[in-house]
Amino acid sequence: MTDWQDNQVFWDEALKTIQNHVSEQEFVMWFQQISYSGSEQDTISVTVPSSFYRDQVKQRYLELILTTLKELSGRAFQIEFDIVRTEMTPPPQRAEPTIPDAHGAPEAAVNRPPRRAVPAPGLIVDYTFQNFIVGDNNRFAANAAMAIARNPGTTYNPCLIYGGVGLGKTHLLHSIGNAVWEDRAGEGKIVYVTAEDFTNEFIRSIQENKTHMFKSKYRNADVLLIDDIHFLQKKNETQEELFHTFNALFDAKKQMIFTSDRPVSEIKDITERLQNRFTRGLTVDLQPPQMETAVAILKTKAEKRGVHVSDEVINLICQKITTNVRDLEAALTKIIAYAELVNKEVSLEVAQRQLKDFFSSPMQNNITVDIIQRVVADYFNLSPSELKGKKRTRQVAFPRQMAMYISREITEASMTDVGLEFGGRDHTTVMHACQRINSRMRTDPTIEDIIQTLIRRIREEGSRA
Ligand code: ADP
Ligand code: MG
Repeated sequence: MTDWQDNQVFWDEALKTIQNHVSEQEFVMWFQQISYSGSEQDTISVTVPSSFYRDQVKQRYLELILTTLKELSGRAFQIEFDIVRTEMTPPPQRAEPTIPDAHGAPEAAVNRPPRRAVPAPGLIVDYTFQNFIVGDNNRFAANAAMAIARNPGTTYNPCLIYGGVGLGKTHLLHSIGNAVWEDRAGEGKIVYVTAEDFTNEFIRSIQENKTHMFKSKYRNADVLLIDDIHFLQKKNETQEELFHTFNALFDAKKQMIFTSDRPVSEIKDITERLQNRFTRGLTVDLQPPQMETAVAILKTKAEKRGVHVSDEVINLICQKITTNVRDLEAALTKIIAYAELVNKEVSLEVAQRQLKDFFSSPMQNNITVDIIQRVVADYFNLSPSELKGKKRTRQVAFPRQMAMYISREITEASMTDVGLEFGGRDHTTVMHACQRINSRMRTDPTIEDIIQTLIRRIREEGSRA
């Protein structure tokens, strides 16, 4: 056996060992995309589909890979990563779909003329990967979506994308559909439907005695995209129908992608077996964009409309609106409409005045410290009065700090206001709480997850209030 064949054995064995050490999802997401490509003495070369993959794999798993190889071979290997884009047989003139990055140059992608030969039926032509700006908040989801578009029905089936309103779920769903459509040069049956329309169509098909047509439409899809599955709560018969649709498509290796405004485990009144199906493949989430990404998105949108909006106005919008991309866009639209009306560029002062209503709109404003206290207390199994009370045991102190931190993050309340709401505490206590949470977030990533979950629930409560 020559040297490199030996090494391939070690690589294959290492992957098998790793498969037992990481979750199935992790393995599918990160390891199935790595291929052994050769080796030299103590260096193993592998290929990965993108620099994103390479960086993520290095950061998350390089150590695991190296120690596993060492355990198996007794040798200290190095890994060399090469980027090879895996593609399906491309139709002529097909350009690789690229996603503009918030830190890169979104302009390049925007200036490229859109190809609109024959649009895919039911899909929005502008919702493409090219028009989707990637930042830390959505990178994982965007990469997964692109990987799916390249090889539908193979590795990540189904895929579930979840995230709050206006964060790009529908955009990504259509992007997958559009990319597959383009890839297959208009062949193939791509079916996009909202869960609501799916439900209504199903009901109508029963009334009109045409369930066979309904079934054949969905069970013959090559790619099925269902938006907003949280709508299926309590719709028992539709859930049942979708369950069978799912099984038929899954067995036929047809790609399914679903979106939801919350994790599936938080969708109430949905059968367990359907929940299991939704989460059988890959689940990815979308978060609100950070400042840089928000700025990149708005600059791109302004450019697309051929309007110049100054950096300071864009920064103002992004500082003030942190909820989601839809709200950001709405604020930009308002500014642009005004600029067109007065026929000149909008100054910072005018923007401030124009956006005043927007900032105090109910959507941004319905959240009170009171709601935050209720949701946080509930999450930690405490009562709101305990959160506001004097007790300083760890069980209470940490949730209290979280609640104070969130109050500062998502309401307009000052440190003093927040202190008053928490049993008349001093503003320095609030400041200290925020610092504590900030520093804990740096060392413990789960804190950030908890905060995001809490904020989502708070916004839901707020929108019901
Ligand atoms: P959701 O379905 O999650 O409620 P949408 O997909 O409808 O959100 O997105 C709301 C708006 O924001 C759409 O106009 C969409 O194009 C835009 N949008 C969201 N995320 C991005 C992004 N990363 N880059 C560019 N536009 C985005
Ligand atoms: Mg949507």
